[in-house]
Amino acid sequence: MLKDTDPQIHNLITRESYRQQNEIMLIPSENTPSPEVISVLSSVFTNKYAEGYPGKRYYGGCQFVDEVENLAILRAKKLFGADHVNVQPHSGVQANEAVFLACLQPGDPILGMGLYHGGHLSHGLKVNLSGIYFKPYAYQVDINTGLIDYNQVEEIALKVKPKLIICGASAYSRIIDFKAFASIAQKVGAKLLADVAHISGLIATGFHPSPVPYADFITTTTHKTLRGPRGAIILCKEEYAKAIDKAVFPGVQGGPHMHTIAAKAVAFEEALQPEFKSYCQNVVVNSSHLAQALIGLGYSIVSGGTDNHLFIVDLRNQTLTGKDSEDILAKVGIIVNKNTLPGDPRSPQITSGIRMGTPAITSRGFVPGDMPQLAEAIHFALIGETFKSQEIIEYFIRKYPLYPHSKTLREFGYFHEMSPV
Ligand SMILES: *Cc1c(COP(=O)(O)O)cnc(C)c1O
Repeated sequence: MLKDTDPQIHNLITRESYRQQNEIMLIPSENTPSPEVISVLSSVFTNKYAEGYPGKRYYGGCQFVDEVENLAILRAKKLFGADHVNVQPHSGVQANEAVFLACLQPGDPILGMGLYHGGHLSHGLKVNLSGIYFKPYAYQVDINTGLIDYNQVEEIALKVKPKLIICGASAYSRIIDFKAFASIAQKVGAKLLADVAHISGLIATGFHPSPVPYADFITTTTHKTLRGPRGAIILCKEEYAKAIDKAVFPGVQGGPHMHTIAAKAVAFEEALQPEFKSYCQNVVVNSSHLAQALIGLGYSIVSGGTDNHLFIVDLRNQTLTGKDSEDILAKVGIIVNKNTLPGDPRSPQITSGIRMGTPAITSRGFVPGDMPQLAEAIHFALIGETFKSQEIIEYFIRKYPLYPHSKTLREFGYFHEMSPV
């Protein structure tokens, strides 16, 4: 038992599990996959080397991992309606790097959404590989509306002639118009990468339009709204299948993590079920209800609301900064992250915004009717009425325990009875 062989790590797992049980997780990139997904992550597939692809491995003993990978591919294709899927990327950033390797030369110009306007560091930040090996340009959102300005994207694209345009975001609460991006890319002879890491669960269930008909390449993490294990996949048109597979292995990775690929397969099958569709619907409705409830309490939201699982609270008319708010909310057990606003007057370490999302609380069971009360808990904490806030939070964490039915996870010692906040 881990408890006896390594009490230090066992203790940290126990404390982390208490933390997750007793806090309200509003970080939009985090989620809680099913106990089945988690248990497959600790299966014997973690022991197996399988460089290569099903039927073309560089190792013996691959008959079962081949079947696992083929199932993962089949299910992902069904889920997204894509021509070709590579299920091997270890993470979202590595999936993006494989796409770069497949379609760019060092020094090529690329155009992505600016990090401080909602983009991701792997879309051309100067200190990231994407900004070091390529020539990065950024489009921004309109500071007044908080919306992507497609005319600006086109203007920049015409000027800098990027070889790759990247759309997709980490902090954008509105529908992304993939068709508009595709027509800009076509106009300037660029390829289009849609990085849908945050919204792929919503895309799979029809709560956000799909980029599949429009983008040359699509990357997504599997652990955000898709609610699978940590990792990523790449979807592409058939014409790029060979180039993408070569770019993932041997281009940027060695042996695939077969236990993770097995867990991805399990998550994709779950995502094909009607229950996952209702889950995603609740994610979106919870998000807009929470945003509306906060507006009702006097807060402003970037772009005035949300179409997806997340939104950014604009604190410029409040006395607290993003960092203050993150710290204050963490003290009562509400976990968010500070976030720059479009045109933020404060630095990225301080910020004037906080980002909130509903994937994790919806997995716990929160329904739209809970959102006004949750908004009050946030508000009470921010105005210093800590006790009132804690009362509401305690009510919710008792009402919606994390993994309430998972005997297996409890037996492993990973999840425990709840303790008070
Ligand atoms: C989260 C995210 C990623 C990064 O995924 P990792 O698995 O952390 O490498 C990539 N792109 C976008 C848009 C993201 O939001």
